[in-house]
Amino acid sequence: MGWMGWRLAFTLAVAAAGGLLGTLWGATRGAHSLEGTLAGALIAVTVLFLRDLVVGHRVLRWLSGGLTESPRWQIGLWGELTARVERAVRGRERQIEQERDRLAQFLSAIEASPNGVLLLDAAEQIRWCSQTAAEHLGLDRHRDIEQRVTNLVRAPAFVALLQSRQFEHPVQIPQPGGQGVLSVMVRAYGDGQRLVLTQDITERERADAMRRDFVANVSHEIRTPLTVVAGFVETLTNLPLSEVERKRVLSLMAQQTQRMQSLVGDLLTLARLEGSPRPPTDSWVPLSRIGAAVEADAQGLSASRHRLSFDWGDGVGLAGSEAELLSAITNLVSNAVRYTPDGGEVSVHWRDRADGGGEIAVRDTGPGIAAEHLPRLTERFYRVDGSRSRDTGGTGLGLAIVKHVVQRHGGELLIDSGVGVGSCFTLVLPAGRVRRPLDGRPLPEAVRALAGR
Ligand code: ADP
Repeated sequence: MGWMGWRLAFTLAVAAAGGLLGTLWGATRGAHSLEGTLAGALIAVTVLFLRDLVVGHRVLRWLSGGLTESPRWQIGLWGELTARVERAVRGRERQIEQERDRLAQFLSAIEASPNGVLLLDAAEQIRWCSQTAAEHLGLDRHRDIEQRVTNLVRAPAFVALLQSRQFEHPVQIPQPGGQGVLSVMVRAYGDGQRLVLTQDITERERADAMRRDFVANVSHEIRTPLTVVAGFVETLTNLPLSEVERKRVLSLMAQQTQRMQSLVGDLLTLARLEGSPRPPTDSWVPLSRIGAAVEADAQGLSASRHRLSFDWGDGVGLAGSEAELLSAITNLVSNAVRYTPDGGEVSVHWRDRADGGGEIAVRDTGPGIAAEHLPRLTERFYRVDGSRSRDTGGTGLGLAIVKHVVQRHGGELLIDSGVGVGSCFTLVLPAGRVRRPLDGRPLPEAVRALAGR
């Protein structure tokens, strides 16, 4: 039997009970039995109806109160009714909660992307904006919702892209209010809505520009001596030269080819440094051995025009690549010799550092370098004095190589210089790559202090 049936039976039972009571009451009063029965049944049904009205009213109040408290009716029609309503509403609430969780997860996945995401409706108004997109485009992700995006992001390329409705290719725009460059891509979806993806390509652009500059610089550096050599070849071919002239031309040609050779050698060194793994930390080289090679090189280059002094420490060992360390120190010493005028002084000193590491300082009494050049000195092809660099066989790559080598050995290159006071280039190596005598272990601080080193 359904609820309607039960309800009908209950109502009939109440009416019958009322009728029975009415009959009994009528009998005691001597009234007509049928009138008593009808009156009893009517009163009973009316009371039931009035009670239903009151309970119905309370149930309505409970419903419009958002079901915050649990229903008070446990049995009967109203108990069943409120229980079912409550179950249905709670089920729906759970479903909504789950959907909300899923949406939150989905949005946090989008937020995790390094790219910015912006959702636009058909009228180009912002519907949603990820934190990254807000940062990229200078938007406020709460205040700017519902705003037309073209009122806020006015870069012409972006506006044109949105209006063209040809979304195949991304466009590049300057980052609003910033120094960077953004790549912006638009995709259509749904009913006229659009998805805008933003990507910060500042670094990529910078690397591209550096690569272009580098290629242009290399080409220029090679073209100059090549033009000179080509000119000499033409001279040798077309002009009858005396033996003395011929020798002089050939020696100039040799100089230019030597310049190209140095350049290609340095380029190859840089390429090798970039493409190879870090030097080992357990392969030890005595610094004195590197020092001997550096000294021989410096003496050859200076040809007694400078006072040179060297101190390679006492039994110091370095961990790393001997060839790289030799190349770095040679580069610093050869710069000092090349840029210091005759009669000047160049000194190379090993010094222990308090942290257990050590440093090789290459000091000269040359012209020094103005402060504004210092930050750019290790850039490839950056020269303060271009003609002196080229005249003395410089490639403009020496300090770039030195910086690379020290960094690969976990150290750093310090430059201290000023116009008229000479320069000091210091190659700092970390404790892990420095070994002193005594079982090859670094001396403890106290022993070193006692030894006065
Ligand atoms: P280069 O082959 O031109 O010497 P580097 O990269 O070794 O290239 O040096 C870059 C520039 O730094 C040089 O062109 C020179 O102007 C400056 N420089 C380097 N070392 C010294 C130094 N010891 N004294 C003065 N200037 C220096």
